[in-house]
Amino acid sequence: MAISVGIDLGTTFSAVAYIDPKTKLPQIIPNGEGSKLTPSVIQFLDGEVIFGGEAEDAYNAGEEDCVATFKREMGETKPYCYIGGKPYTSEDLSAMLLRHLKEEAEATLGDTIKEAVITVPAYFYSKEREATIRAAEKAGLKVKKIIDEPNAAAMAYGLNHWRENANILVYDLGGGTFDVTLVHMGKNGELSTITTRGNHKLGGRDWDARIEDILVARFENETDLSIRNDSELWSIVSGMSEGVKKQLSAQNMQSVKVSATFPDYGKATVTITKAEFEENTADLLDRTGALCLAVLEEAGLTKKDVTDVLLVGGSTRMPQVPEYLQRMFNKKPLSHVNPDEAVALGAAIQSSKANEDYTSLVLKVVDGKKTTDRANFGLSSHVSVKAERKLNSLSMLTLRETTAHAMGIIAINDEGNRYYNEIIIPANHPRPVRAAKKFRFYTSPHSNNELAIYVLQGDSEDPLDCQITYKYVVTGIQHVNRGEKIGTVIRIQYSYDVNGVIHIQARQEDGTVDLPIRREEVPEDISRFGRPVTSENTDQGFNVGLQLGTRSGQSVVHKYKPVTFSNVKWDKYDNIATHPSGAQFNEPTVHVIANEENIEFHGYNISEMNEGVRYSIDPSDDFEIECDINTSTISPHPGGYLEISLGLISAHLTENGGDILLDGASVATVAPRFHLRMSLTDGGQYEVEIDGRAVGSKFKASKSRVDVRFGFVHESHYCQLLSHAYISDISMMQAVGGEGDDNPDTDTWND
Ligand code: ADP
Ligand code: MG
Repeated sequence: MAISVGIDLGTTFSAVAYIDPKTKLPQIIPNGEGSKLTPSVIQFLDGEVIFGGEAEDAYNAGEEDCVATFKREMGETKPYCYIGGKPYTSEDLSAMLLRHLKEEAEATLGDTIKEAVITVPAYFYSKEREATIRAAEKAGLKVKKIIDEPNAAAMAYGLNHWRENANILVYDLGGGTFDVTLVHMGKNGELSTITTRGNHKLGGRDWDARIEDILVARFENETDLSIRNDSELWSIVSGMSEGVKKQLSAQNMQSVKVSATFPDYGKATVTITKAEFEENTADLLDRTGALCLAVLEEAGLTKKDVTDVLLVGGSTRMPQVPEYLQRMFNKKPLSHVNPDEAVALGAAIQSSKANEDYTSLVLKVVDGKKTTDRANFGLSSHVSVKAERKLNSLSMLTLRETTAHAMGIIAINDEGNRYYNEIIIPANHPRPVRAAKKFRFYTSPHSNNELAIYVLQGDSEDPLDCQITYKYVVTGIQHVNRGEKIGTVIRIQYSYDVNGVIHIQARQEDGTVDLPIRREEVPEDISRFGRPVTSENTDQGFNVGLQLGTRSGQSVVHKYKPVTFSNVKWDKYDNIATHPSGAQFNEPTVHVIANEENIEFHGYNISEMNEGVRYSIDPSDDFEIECDINTSTISPHPGGYLEISLGLISAHLTENGGDILLDGASVATVAPRFHLRMSLTDGGQYEVEIDGRAVGSKFKASKSRVDVRFGFVHESHYCQLLSHAYISDISMMQAVGGEGDDNPDTDTWND
């Protein structure tokens, strides 16, 4: 019978556990050497690959071709090391280690492993989680789920120590990473993560490095050797530092004598005291403390609301850790779980359970920033914590994890001059979760319409302070012309799956199938996102946020904002007053009535007029105008015409209609009444559409400003009758930065 296991794939130690079919309780599966923990170290020895304890010994002895702590660079595409000239990424090395763990566990149990729940630091980004999944698959494991290490530890603890309404702060200090997570024990064995924070690059190794500094200085003093600048001498000292740390961490140890034998010198002995060690590492502890407070602040709780602190990770065996936390929280931290084993045991519990369903987004805006609404998390500090009990069975325990990082997209602000992180799913939101948004934007009837989305992970408003996860390009978007409103609408769905991995999907507004999406690596140089938005920034294929590329290599900011006559400064232009014979007109009244829906030109007693409205735009400001035009009412007055111009697009329309010109050439002949759509996008792409049909397009990159004009021209003298023309149902869209209304929520979908 194939079994499911939980695997703690640690930076320094890994462990595998399963649910013992007899006891129905989680249990560690010892490795081939009979140990519960396997050092995460690999040695490449003359074509042979050695794992675990033996490899670790070789590594500590400074032997060559040993690799350790590779989890620290999980998700990086560049090699972690070269062995015999061959590159290995962290993912490759993790795959090798996972295969070894799997094979050893199978040998111990005499059974095959069907699938696994694998743990990762809560702070792992989507890319690191994906790399972990790929590594497991390469190792021949089916990944049932990725869960966060602190959550796994809390499960292992909660099984035997359930206290309804308790808030448990899980403090996980491992070899290379630190995670702190606040979990809440709800009713009926419902365990939920509230908030989580972490530091990827803080762990036992940093304490080792401080010991190494002290030892190197002390041995140099003692021997007059230049140890720091000699890699051989230095590795002798550095190989001892972890052992010295462990000795200093043993009970009642006040100081440790350390001896080393140096070539050409001989043996030297120095002493290091526990007090020195603590003094030299106090700042590291403070860094963990600051993250504990941050987690509480985000949860809206105080130190008093923490029911208990749970210690996880080998580094919590340093006595200063529980002492520090006891001072901070005024209570003795729990050490009910074995800090090295709890994570694997919790993963084993999860491996026996079904994965959770998607939840919908629960948001609250605080100081203009989107955050997770925790009103229903039952966190109130007034609720009393119930007595501890054992849960009767594993099936009673359920886990709801949260997202450590907010997910956002790069967008352009309302003023159109700065990039920012538009948060879609806030940090500390229960997962799996989906959110879908509608976007309206300009598309071309001719081209292959594409939309680029840069997805970020992080809370900062500055995109460069966040991790830019991927650039997603939505392809095959169909141009939609719905007459009354300009722009094609597509729905974009952003999700964090059960594993904390990001997915992006897109559909046309009324579509029932997903549009194809291409995922691209983020360009190396992303410094532009930190600089003001300029036309250079946006027209060199450097799409940002939600943008559209209608031509290869070209793309434009495509977030359109409707502009109306009331908020756009249209200059009225006329030359009637300056006409040399203007004085002879007894009643030269011309009315240009421009409001949000119409431009009407009325003339009475018109002699010669050339009057209208004008709006000047920058060519990098994409713009489009859609309107219904009626020139039939000009008819009593031959000679009068309606004049339209938008850069290269122009028209001269009489009571019988006329020609629409693109760069001087006719692209369509229209009747007096027609629906016109004109646009200028991509910093020079002109498009004309008549009655819903594309009639022509032309690219003319121009840096000069473009006039949009609607005018009425009448050259006949002394017309005593009324002349008028209408342009109605005008809608104009101008490309601008993100506006809240541009991306309203829409229903999510799940297939
Ligand atoms: P990870 O999950 O990152 O693999 P672990 O939780 O297994 O890490 O913890 C490994 C770290 O714990 C190492 O830095 C190791 O030196 C440290 N550690 C293990 N035992 C002790 C001990 N007795 N005293 C001090 N540090 C210890
Ligand atoms: Mg660990």
